[in-house]
Amino acid sequence: MISLRIGNGYDLHRLVPRRPLILGGVTLPHDRGLLGHSDADALTHAIMDALLGAIALGDIGHYFPPSDPQWAGADSILLLEKVVALITERGWRVENVDAVILAEQPKMKPHLLAMRERLSQAMDVTVEQVSIKATTNEGMDAVGQQEAIAVYAVALLAKLNND
Ligand code: MG
Repeated sequence: MISLRIGNGYDLHRLVPRRPLILGGVTLPHDRGLLGHSDADALTHAIMDALLGAIALGDIGHYFPPSDPQWAGADSILLLEKVVALITERGWRVENVDAVILAEQPKMKPHLLAMRERLSQAMDVTVEQVSIKATTNEGMDAVGQQEAIAVYAVALLAKLNND
């Protein structure tokens, strides 16, 4: 008997000058980057929240609060590995992840495979289990005005029940 659980995650960070733009553990060439307490990797954050949400473990703010100086400038890929450890120690494994990045600039397409590779390594799954897509917001709202990048993610977890 296999149990399945689905979770969703969302994140948004402001785009500001003099910050690196890191998404899915990949540093993208751009004149601005995402503002945040950690490395502000909104893609990795949304995926972590989807994974945690699938088995009702709360959200990343609970495990890595912005008020805690130890997470200042943190590499979010390392935080993702910690989240995956929380899941696997409860007997669950990551079945697949699907995410969509909302960004007007820069173009995401040249970097999507690198993001999938980095994220799949961190989650100990294959690249085929990690889908990352990107779209613009057609110039609308803060994302369309290049003031922010937002990400939606879903994750499916599986557990083999022995009883
Ligand atoms: Mg975040």
